[in-house]
Amino acid sequence: MLPATDIAVCEWSEAKYLFFSENIWGDFIYYSHLLPALATILVTIFLFVNARQNKAAQALLFTGASFTIWSLMDLFLWASERVDLIMFTWSAMIYLELFIYVGVLYFIYAYVSGKFPSFKEELILFALFIPLFLFGHTSLNLTGFDLTNCWREAIEGPLWQTYIYSIEIALALWILAYAALRTFREKGLARRREIVIISTGALLFLFLFSFGNILGSFESDWEVGQIGLFGMPVLLVFISYVVVHYEAFRAKVFAAEALFSAAFLLLLSILFVRTIDNAHIIAITTLFLFSVLGFLLVRSIKAEIAQREQIESLAVKLERANTRLKQLDKQKSEFVSIASHQLRSPLTSIAGYASLLREGTYGNIPQKMLEPLERIEQSARFMTESIEDYLNVSRIESGNMKYHLTDFNLRDETEHICDDIRPEALRKGLVLLFRTNMKATGVVNADLGKVQQILHNLINNALKYTPKGTINVVVRDDTKRKRIYVDIVDTGIGMNDDTLHSIFQKFERGDKANTVNVKGTGLGLYVALKMAEAMGGTITAHSDGEGKGSRFTLELPLAL
Ligand code: ADP
Repeated sequence: MLPATDIAVCEWSEAKYLFFSENIWGDFIYYSHLLPALATILVTIFLFVNARQNKAAQALLFTGASFTIWSLMDLFLWASERVDLIMFTWSAMIYLELFIYVGVLYFIYAYVSGKFPSFKEELILFALFIPLFLFGHTSLNLTGFDLTNCWREAIEGPLWQTYIYSIEIALALWILAYAALRTFREKGLARRREIVIISTGALLFLFLFSFGNILGSFESDWEVGQIGLFGMPVLLVFISYVVVHYEAFRAKVFAAEALFSAAFLLLLSILFVRTIDNAHIIAITTLFLFSVLGFLLVRSIKAEIAQREQIESLAVKLERANTRLKQLDKQKSEFVSIASHQLRSPLTSIAGYASLLREGTYGNIPQKMLEPLERIEQSARFMTESIEDYLNVSRIESGNMKYHLTDFNLRDETEHICDDIRPEALRKGLVLLFRTNMKATGVVNADLGKVQQILHNLINNALKYTPKGTINVVVRDDTKRKRIYVDIVDTGIGMNDDTLHSIFQKFERGDKANTVNVKGTGLGLYVALKMAEAMGGTITAHSDGEGKGSRFTLELPLAL
């Protein structure tokens, strides 16, 4: 420690609360140390709280904390008159310098790739600290205290002037190379820009930070070094911009804006510090930087808001169009319903009279008229069925389908339907078999007419789409789940996956459907499924592929 007389000669004053003393020759030092440190720690904590799991936010908090501690230690160096404390603090700061660089490297790695450096890279980084552990406490760190003047400065040894500064340059180059490589490899343009902005900000910060220190070390002019401290806010502004523009940390837009305004006001206040001339130059430069970046920041927020407003107004229009469409759809259903009702009765009488004529109820009919009459009857029946389908669709869609639930035996019903359809199957050269595998009696509570319609539809489809072979109808149940199943298994044309996925939709017919059966509306399965669902059941379809047959299963709850 220096004899008290020397201190007296130099007229150093005692520091109060570590940081406040007459030794600091201008308020500017407080600004340059406290404001960036404060802004840094606030922003990095804010980002960390917003995205704890984000590795980049973690690395940034580490860097921010190191920078803040560094700034406070440096401020202490300015304020203190205690030679021993100055020497201790100064020599300890070498670790923090390295922390800051390594922190920025981790940040860039995490930001760009979402990962920290690899184990090997971490080993290299760790190795960088070894000389500090070995020689940090020796005179290689600080060789002594400069007593040639009253500036209270330590004399930096090779650990500072050679080792740490070269390492800093090497680390900066490492970051630059990594960022450049990743930018080059990145395909997305927006992401590229993001990486460029973030790494430019980081490197700018490191450059300003070291530039001031290195200059100070070699020229012993520590005043210029103050510029360096404003590097951190510069990086922060870059980060804020990226946060908002790319929602990198998913932080709120307004938070970034508030952050920027706060930093701007703080920096503006430097203008009112009159103690040193270059404070103005520094403040103006920094203000300029802030203004440009702030402008970009606010502009991107505005663009985003405008976009959102546009989307909102589109959503309103869409909503209106949707309502109108629903109205139209309803009107269409009503129209179909009315038109179909009008058509149904004349068609039924056409079919009926054609049948009566053919059977000779109105006298003998010449032989060659029989076939045309049969065609008239068939077509009229097909049209009646189609109209029935349309009517069902319009009833389902308008919610007017009525269900009259009664208890009946589904197994017996299915057997009757099979018996009814068997002659038709035989005419087509098909075998229609009925089997059961039941534990319970097979009573369901459902709408009998609708269930008959569904079964007719499924079994008739099996007939329609099976050129030759067998149709197996199996009724089975699962008493535990209280369900009853009717499987209709055919050896027909089968279905590919695409067809399987679409057949239950309105007007959907399989690609192959037309080759086997030209007649068809593509409404039968849609109606059947809706009805089954309304009665607490469902219909599923399965096929191993085209030409491999199909299996349709009607499933209904058992009434127990
Ligand atoms: P439609 O039979 O009037 O075309 P559906 O709604 O009853 O209408 O059937 C839709 C489509 O499902 C049919 O066009 C056909 O491609 C397919 N499909 C239905 N049942 C079978 C089956 N048993 N075998 C193969 N394909 C079938």
